[in-house]
Amino acid sequence: MNQKYTIALLPGDGIGPEVIKEAVKVLRSLEKILKIELILNEVPVGGAAYEAEGHPLPANTLNVAQSADAVLLGAVGGPKWESLERDLRPERGLLGIRSELALFSNLRPAILYPQLASASSLKTEIVSGLDLMIVRELVGGIYFGKPRGIEIRDGERFGINSATYYESEIARIGHSAFQIAQKRGKRVCSVDKANVLEVSELWREVMEEVSSSYPDVTLSHMYVDNAAMQLVRDPKQFDVMVTSNLFGDVLSDCAAMLTGSIGMLPSASLDKNSFGMYEPIHGSAPDIAGKDIANPLATILSVSMMLRYSLNQAELADKINLAVSEVLDKGYRTKDISAAGDKVVGTEEMGDLIVMALES
Ligand code: NAD
Repeated sequence: MNQKYTIALLPGDGIGPEVIKEAVKVLRSLEKILKIELILNEVPVGGAAYEAEGHPLPANTLNVAQSADAVLLGAVGGPKWESLERDLRPERGLLGIRSELALFSNLRPAILYPQLASASSLKTEIVSGLDLMIVRELVGGIYFGKPRGIEIRDGERFGINSATYYESEIARIGHSAFQIAQKRGKRVCSVDKANVLEVSELWREVMEEVSSSYPDVTLSHMYVDNAAMQLVRDPKQFDVMVTSNLFGDVLSDCAAMLTGSIGMLPSASLDKNSFGMYEPIHGSAPDIAGKDIANPLATILSVSMMLRYSLNQAELADKINLAVSEVLDKGYRTKDISAAGDKVVGTEEMGDLIVMALES
């Protein structure tokens, strides 16, 4: 019997539908190659959903996502919807779906294909072949802690946010990071500020406790200021970094930019059962939408992450990564990652080339 999976497709806005179309080509090709059966249910989110149904996250979109085995999202947003009231803006659809699906573990890989090393602002030898994974806690910490707000104290304005974590919240992101490390290089670096913050002291203690369940994985700790320096000095020293919501927000953008190519980077957000939503890290890029120049590889690599982390099809994930590498080896590039002498192709042609590499 063929293995059967249901995938919710949420193309969204701008270049979202264009890059999702190429990801679908890849999924259909995998079906042919390895006899899996895929049911793809497409539903609107973001601005497209607002236009169709008056809300960026319609109930049916959420239902379809909740009943799927995994969710693949393009991107949301655009100037057309920026003046809407906050709750109707496309980005609320994205935040809404992440919290409704309880996606607490955000995986942000920073991978630099050696073929693209010249795109980085760092020296080639420092970044070429970079492959690190940042696991960021996504639904707790200072972004959600209470008390919060701006009030008047002692006759002046006073702002307050609270960095809070229950040990259970730390443990679950810890388990997520260790399990990911087991599928990679078996090293976890936990990033905190335990020399100053009590919440970080607890973070460190709980990470140590969690590590005892994973004797095959090595745990180290690093203060966040040092981690920021090390990411720029010697990023290849890391395998998996696990950190809180705030530190992860900053470090993952820094790591992404080490690669110099926003069109190449996938991401995943997982719940406690490894159900996940997969999306490129880039936005809806309204400046290039509809021109057949968007790079679809970040979305195609998001499909690879989906196969590895939610559908347990690591072999198929490897096949996609290899196909991307082969196409880059042959000198094909979308405009955003091209240099003199490259063969520049459009969004659709890049999708076709990946399919050809998969099927060859
Ligand atoms: P963006 O990521 O959309 O674009 C930044 C720059 O990178 C642009 O010049 C764009 O042309 C380029 N770019 C992005 N993806 C590319 C790709 N695949 N191929 C080639 N070039 C690519 O960020 P922005 O311009 O700040 O935001 C545009 C809209 O996207 C806004 O409405 C923003 O709110 C939204 N946004 C959505 C998400 C998401 O859906 N997860 C993330 C970030 C921004």
